[in-house]
Parts: sequence; C-alpha cells; structure tokens
Amino acid sequence: MQRREFSQHLQRSAIALALSPWFSAAAAPADKSRAWRSNPFALGVASGRPRADSVVLWTRLLFGDEDRAVGTEALRVQVEVFADAAMKRRVQTTEVVTDEARGHSVHAHVQRLQPSTDYWYRFSQGDAHSTVGHTRTAPALNADVRELRVALSSCQHYEQGQFIAHAEIAKEKLDFVLFMGDYIYESSNAQYAIRKHNGEEPKTLAQYRERYEQYKRDPMLQAAHAAHPGVLMWDDHEVVNDYANDQDRNYTDPQQLLLRRAAAYQAYFEHQPVLLGPDANIPSNMRLYDQLSWGKLADVWTLDCRQYRSAQACRDPVRGGGRMVVQCDELTDASRTMLGHAQERWLTDSLSQSKRQWKLVAQATQISSTSIPTPVGRSYWNDAWDGYPEARKRLLQTVVDAKLKNVVTLGGDVHCNVAANLRLEPNNPQSPIVASEFVTTSITSRGLGDKPAAVIRESNADLLHYRSDERGYSLITVTPSEVRCDFRTTKFPAGSEAGLKTQASYVVKNGKAGPQAV
Ligand code: FE
Ligand code: CA
Repeated sequence: MQRREFSQHLQRSAIALALSPWFSAAAAPADKSRAWRSNPFALGVASGRPRADSVVLWTRLLFGDEDRAVGTEALRVQVEVFADAAMKRRVQTTEVVTDEARGHSVHAHVQRLQPSTDYWYRFSQGDAHSTVGHTRTAPALNADVRELRVALSSCQHYEQGQFIAHAEIAKEKLDFVLFMGDYIYESSNAQYAIRKHNGEEPKTLAQYRERYEQYKRDPMLQAAHAAHPGVLMWDDHEVVNDYANDQDRNYTDPQQLLLRRAAAYQAYFEHQPVLLGPDANIPSNMRLYDQLSWGKLADVWTLDCRQYRSAQACRDPVRGGGRMVVQCDELTDASRTMLGHAQERWLTDSLSQSKRQWKLVAQATQISSTSIPTPVGRSYWNDAWDGYPEARKRLLQTVVDAKLKNVVTLGGDVHCNVAANLRLEPNNPQSPIVASEFVTTSITSRGLGDKPAAVIRESNADLLHYRSDERGYSLITVTPSEVRCDFRTTKFPAGSEAGLKTQASYVVKNGKAGPQAV
C-alpha cells in the first residue's frame, strides 16, 4: 500500500477498534425507582450544535463509591425539554440508553423544535435530576436576523488559571459559544501551575476520561455550558501537543499514535454535545468539521485543523512539532495541506456558494503571519498557517475567485488576541486586503512573553492588534452593518484579579475587508 493509503487504513482500523462498542448498546431495564447515594450528574449538562429545528443535549453519568456497582449496568436516562425556565410547559420527553462502553455518556439529538426559541432541559435517572440547562435554537434559514452574539473561546489549561472567563460568558446574553480547541490539556508545566491535574499524561481512554472529568467538574465551566449551546472544534491538546494527523513530536509509531488518537477522540465525543456521523448517537466517523447558517445573516464554518493535516515543515529530527523555521523549502510544497483534501474541497465549494451576508470561517489556529526577520531570511512558526503558506494562499484565493466580500476568520491556539488584515501576500501593501481575522486569547493558558510578542507585532504590518499578556475570551457581535470583536480580558493567571475588562474593540464594516479599531 502507498503510505497514505496505509495510514488511512490504519486510521479506519484504529477508529473501528476503539468505537466498536458504540454499535451495541444493550437494552436497559426501566429503573425509575433507583435511589442514588451520590449525584450521578456531577459533570453538569451541556447543549450544542444548534440548528433551526434541533439541538444536541449532553450529560454523562458518574458513579460515586456508594454507587460503584451501578457503573457496570446499561441505564435509561430521561431527557425533558421545556419551553419555560419554571419547567411548567414541557414540550418533549425522550429516553436515552447508555452503558459502560460509551462511558455512560448521554447524547440526545432533540428534533422538531421551533427556530430562534429558548428551551430548558434536564436529565433524570431514578431519583436523581441534573441541573437545568438553557439552550436556544438557530433562526430559520431564510430569517432576517438583526444580530448574532457569540463568545469565542479557546485554550483552557486547568493548571494555569481559574475559569473566570466562563463565569462571565455564563452571564452574557449569547446565541452560542464557539470553542476553538484545547478544551483539555494532556500536559503539565509545574512552573505555571496554580492548581494540579489529577493523574499522569493521558494516553488511554480511561485516562482521557479522567482528565475530562476533572475539567467538567469546574463550576464556572459547567455554568457556561448550562447557559448556552456550544459550537465546538478541537485543536491539538485534546490528543497531544502539536500532533498532525498520525504524527507527534516524538515520532511515535503512527499505528500507536492513531490508537491514542482514537481513545482521545472517543473521550472527546463522550464529553461534548456533538453529533458525529449520519446516525444520531453513534460516531461512525470522527468528522468534526461542520457548517452552520444563521438566518440570512451569516454562514459559519468550523474546521478541523489537526486530523488531516500534513506534518509540520522542516521538523527537528529529534523533537518534532511546532518550531520557528528559516530557509525551509518544504513550506512552498503545494501538496502540503492544513485541512486535508476532502475538507478543503468541501470548504472551497461551500464558501464559494455562500449567499449569506457574513462568512465566518472558524479554524483552530492563526492565519495571519507572525514571521520575524533574521540574518538568513524570515523565520516562520511552522504549526500555524505560516507553516502551510500554500494552503493559506488557496483559501484566500477562493475568497478572491468567488468575489466574496465579508469573510471574517476566527481563530485560537496562539494564546493571543489578534486583529489582522488577510492578504494573498502577507504584509505586502501592494496585495489587497481580502479578508479579516480575529483570534481570541486563551481562557487560562499562558501566552508568549512580552519581548517576542513585541518583535512579532513590529515585524508584521498586517497585525493591527497583537497582545499575548492577558487571558479571557472575545465577544463577537454580528449585525447587517458590521462584525464587532470585543477582546474581554484579565491578568495572568486568570483569577488573580476579579472580573474582565475590554482590552480593545475592532469592527469589520459591511463590504470593507480589514478590521478597524473602535
Ligand atoms: Fe492552547
Ligand atoms: Ca493548540
């Protein structure tokens, strides 16, 4: 087999192996009378993937020591959906069977809902009830929508701060939260830890589950999930730092890495309100990239920048993954891809045909350049789009070829607030600005030091705003006249001061590419 075919074959086998139990949920007895001694809903609730007529509701049962024996059983979980916060007007009741093979996770794909409508929901098992979550459906596809409000967030290293940004997100009035990746971190850095991960670096399904359990127990994170639907993407740390498809920094045997990746992906699915594959509750593949329409106002694409990408260019032979590279001919290899060919084709087609006013392309990392001059040529960070310049050019060429106005890209990963111009040739004033970029800083994860950040800012004229010193999230407000980005931030480590403030605000005006400071 060709290397690529072999790798795809391995991926399919690894995923099939890791997911085979999903296809055989055993029947469970009705057990309305079960008396729980510990709270099985300690991980909270979440909703996600809002559509005009549906939403995915999530929880996962946990078993305290007193209820340990229940953890081997298949269980029926009731899901109730209400039209009011007081839970007087019940609109739907459904039941989901779950079992040990899926970590007792519960995914209810609730359908036949009304567009642009608020709903409240809760889960019940025996005498236990979950907290009540709030969610909201998307507008009808042809609706004239005056406003879309989204919290953009990414990178929540548990050890490096408190999730106070989530506490504020929970209180905001939003349509949804767009999480751009690095939901968990597999790794630790004792130097910056204000609290500790449990257990060692996860590699198995059991270990990844334990890591999610720790994050999901955080009350501020639970509050944000319970308050708003989520639209979710992943980046690298959901598996391992800087991985690219079947490659990691240690040059682990790809077959081994794909098994680890399948375990990490399964744990991800078990802990998020996502719908994978054509069948409601079964992840028949691990496709996460998706597209969502918000009335006539906006199309939103959420991309997967890890699962299909080419390995980073000019990797260090001892320690692969991200690094600064100079004089790297591999960068100009047009066969290298960030999205993989199928996703790239899907995005090109879908973007070219979009008739909605704003086109929001949400991807995991940074598209604008952060290169710096050196005596032997410019140096590029090879893990972001600077490391995939031909793929970046193809994406932006699509915008030019289809004569698209109002393309705004959204990103995360770099622990930095960025507002930038996007041109076919980065930083070249002769090359027209074709799109606009906002990248959100991390919820908690430490950013680049002040000195390298200043060098990057001074070396890239397209970076209108570039600040790595503060943590937080970004409030994106889309209206027919503009897309506004308010960078909401707090000092590092998050939690060391109360609350967040606005670091800066930018707008992209209808018909005019490029962010403008407010
Ligand atoms: Fe991160
Ligand atoms: Ca990342």
